[in-house]
Amino acid sequence: MQQTVKQKSLPLNRAKWAEIVQVTEAYARQKDAFLVAYGHIKYLPYLGQKRKLRDELVAAGFASPFGLQARQWKLALDDALFTLERQWEAAIVKVQERLYRHEGLTGEEKHYAFWFLYKHEKYGRDWKRLKAVFTGEDVINEEINLDAKGRSKGRKYLQRTFSRVLGSRPRVKKARSFAVDQQMYRVFATGRRQYISVATLIPGKRVVIPLTGMHAMEGNLRVVLLPDKQAVEIHLTREPQIYPAGKGETGIDLGITEVFTDDTGKKYRPEYGEALQEMSDRILAKSQKRGRLWALYRKFLKQDPNKARRILRHNLGLVKQTKRNKKYRTRCENEINRAFNELYRERRPQTIAYEDLAHLRGKARSKGLSRKVANWQRNIIKKRLEYKNYIYSVTDPGPVNAAYTSQQCPQCGWVDARNRSGDTFKCRKCGFTADADLVGAVNLKTRLLDTEITRYTPYRKVKEILLQRYQQRQAS
Ligand SMILES: [Zn+2]
Repeated sequence: MQQTVKQKSLPLNRAKWAEIVQVTEAYARQKDAFLVAYGHIKYLPYLGQKRKLRDELVAAGFASPFGLQARQWKLALDDALFTLERQWEAAIVKVQERLYRHEGLTGEEKHYAFWFLYKHEKYGRDWKRLKAVFTGEDVINEEINLDAKGRSKGRKYLQRTFSRVLGSRPRVKKARSFAVDQQMYRVFATGRRQYISVATLIPGKRVVIPLTGMHAMEGNLRVVLLPDKQAVEIHLTREPQIYPAGKGETGIDLGITEVFTDDTGKKYRPEYGEALQEMSDRILAKSQKRGRLWALYRKFLKQDPNKARRILRHNLGLVKQTKRNKKYRTRCENEINRAFNELYRERRPQTIAYEDLAHLRGKARSKGLSRKVANWQRNIIKKRLEYKNYIYSVTDPGPVNAAYTSQQCPQCGWVDARNRSGDTFKCRKCGFTADADLVGAVNLKTRLLDTEITRYTPYRKVKEILLQRYQQRQAS
C-alpha cells in the first residue's frame, strides 16, 4: 500500500498549458481505447502478465493512433490494465462475501468456488483459472471431491454473481491526468525554485513546469491537471514508513457524532458530528433544489426549449456542485484522519475490533443523514482503516459480528434492547451503567476473541448464544 505525495505547480503560461493538455488528452483517449480493447473476458489472463501484452504489442509494431510516444502508450496500457485489475479485485471481494453467506451450495461446491477466487501469496492470482468461470471450461481440482455437475454448479454461481457485482466496464470519461516514468521527466532546481520538465507528444521536446515547494522525486509520477488554476499537481506514490506491531486489542464503536469511541470510553473528534451534519444538510438542500429545477426543465422542454436549455446549462451543471461540496468533504475527511491518527498513536494496538461498516448506514439513518453522506463516510473510513492498519502493522481479521453489541451488558451478560436508551446504557438486570458507545466498543473487542460467534453467525443465533451464556453464568 502506498502513500501519495502531491506537489502543485505555479500557474502555467498559455503555451505550456496547451501542451500539457494535449498530452493529457492523447493519453486519456489511448487509455480508454485500451480499456475497451482489453476489457473483454478473453484478455483476463493478461492481468497477471501485463508485461507480456506490452511486448506483444511492440512485436506487432503498435503505434499510438493518438500520437503518444512509445513510452507514453506503454504507461497508458499499464494504467488501463491496473484499472481493470482494480475493478476485478473489488468484484472478487464482493463475490467472496456473497459466497460466504450463500446457502444454495454444498460445502464442497463452496470450497470449489472459493478456489477460483483464491490469491496465492507468492504467485498471485490465477486469472486463467478465473477466466474458465466465464468460458464454461471444466477445471478440476483433484483435492476437491466433486463431480462435473457440482463443479458446473459452483462455476455458474460465480458467473451469475460476478455479472451482478462487476458493474459496467471502466472507461476514461475525462482527461485528467497522465503517468510519466523516470525517462520522461527531469527534476532540477535553480536557487530555491524546483522545476520538472516533462516529455510532450513531440520526441525530444519538453515542457518546463515551475513547482511550489521542494520534493525528492523518482520513479513513476502522475501529472494531474488543475484546470481552474491552469496549473498541474505532481503525484508521487511511495512506500510509507512502517511501524512495528503494537500489543493487545482495541475496540472501536463507529459513530456519527464523533468518529468513534474506543473501549476506554474515549471519544475521538467530537467535532466530527457537526461537520457531518452540515455536509448532509447541504447535500439534501442541494438535491431538493435540483429536483425543483429538473421539474422546471421538464415543464419548459415543450413550451420553451431555449429556456429549458438555459436552465440545464446554468443551474444544473455538475462542476459547481462538486467543487462546493468538496469543502465540506475535506472537513469531514480531516476529522476522520485525525481520529485515526490519535487512536493508532495513543493505543498502538496489535488488533482493532470494528463492526461491519454497513452498520454505519443504519446509524446515519437514525440521525437523518443523507444516504449519500452515509455511503461516502463508510468508504472513507474503510480506506483509512486499511491504510493505518498497514502502516502500524495491525493484523486485521476483518469486521467482527456486531449483533447485540449495543444491548449486551458487559458485566452480567444480559441482553435487552431496553438496556440502552439514547447515549446511556443501564443494565435491566444488574444495574451496570455506562456510556452506550463505550459499551459497544467493549463488546466489539470481546467479539474479537469469541470463537463461537464469528462474523457470519446469524443474528438470531447470536442472541441465543448470549442468553445461554447468561443463564450458565447465573447457574454457576
Ligand atoms: Zn448487567
